[in-house]
Amino acid sequence: MSECIFCMIAAGQVPAKIVYETPAVVAFDDLSPQAPVHTLIIPRSHYTDLGDGVPDQVRAALLAAVPEVARIKGVAESGYRLIINNGADAMQSVQHLHLHVLGGRAMSHGMVHFADEE
Ligand code: AMP
Repeated sequence: MSECIFCMIAAGQVPAKIVYETPAVVAFDDLSPQAPVHTLIIPRSHYTDLGDGVPDQVRAALLAAVPEVARIKGVAESGYRLIINNGADAMQSVQHLHLHVLGGRAMSHGMVHFADEE
C-alpha cells in the first residue's frame, strides 16, 4: 500500500517518533496525542483492520509489543488504556490496523469516549 501513511512510517519514508520496533511491528507516538502518553502500535504489513485476515502471529506481535511500549513510555506501573478503532462506526480514520496506547493521566470510566478528552 504505497499511499498508506502508516506503511510509509513503517518503511521509514515518513518521519515519526519511533518508540519501539521489531521485525513484525512498529510503535510510534501519535501526531495528535490525546493523553501525555499516546503511542500507536502497527503491524509492518498492511491490514486494513482486524477483519482483514490478520495472521495469528501478527496479532500476537501487536499485543506482545504493548508491555514493552508501556515500559519504555513509563506507564507500566501507573496503567494505560488500549483502544482499537476498528471500522467505520468506530471512526477509524487511518485504514491500517493500529492499536492506541494511552496513559500518563487518570481516565474516567466508560467505553464511549476515545480517551476522555479533557
Ligand atoms: P484512528 O482514529 O483510530 O484511525 O487513529 C488514527 C490516529 O493516527 C490518530 O490518533 C492520528 O492522530 C494518528 N496519526 C495520523 N497520521 C499520523 C502520523 N503521520 N504520525 C503519527 N500519528 C498519526
